Amino acid sequence: MSLLKRVKREVTSSMPTLNNPQLMRQIIMDHYQNPRNKRKPIGTDYQQIHMDSVSCVDDIFVYVKIDNNRIVDCCFDGVGCTISIASTSMMTELVLGKTLEEAQQLMKHFLAMVHGQAYDEEILDEAIVFMNTSKQASRIKCATIGWDGLHEIMAHQHKNPKEDQHE
Ligand code: ZN
Repeated sequence: MSLLKRVKREVTSSMPTLNNPQLMRQIIMDHYQNPRNKRKPIGTDYQQIHMDSVSCVDDIFVYVKIDNNRIVDCCFDGVGCTISIASTSMMTELVLGKTLEEAQQLMKHFLAMVHGQAYDEEILDEAIVFMNTSKQASRIKCATIGWDGLHEIMAHQHKNPKEDQHE
């Protein structure tokens, strides 16, 4: 069994009394060292956004392909610190296949968590490994940079719906 599957199972089974900072760090490091969907988009019809940070090295592009109100691909590229790369990597996995509404919901809970507010850990799944980020103010921007990018794209999507061709 892969490290990710194993730790994911442990994380899931230890919810909601998750109290294993070492395991959470391990998952974050795994996403940093082997980022998922860190690539340029394959094919066409992607929307992209450039995100950077004044307080960190983070400088990434987020690419999203939305089809029929659903995220059919999400990837990213660029450079960043451990937290930004890991959280963006995780985001690309979590939003894949979700409707825009589901992705908004996920995003809402993720942002609530890193800002120290109430959140639903079932919705967040693996992303709960960033639960302690709210205690490190300087890393909040890192943890949310990819999510903020996706949020921007989705907000734009609502204003300019691409699904003009009703069937
Ligand atoms: Zn950073």
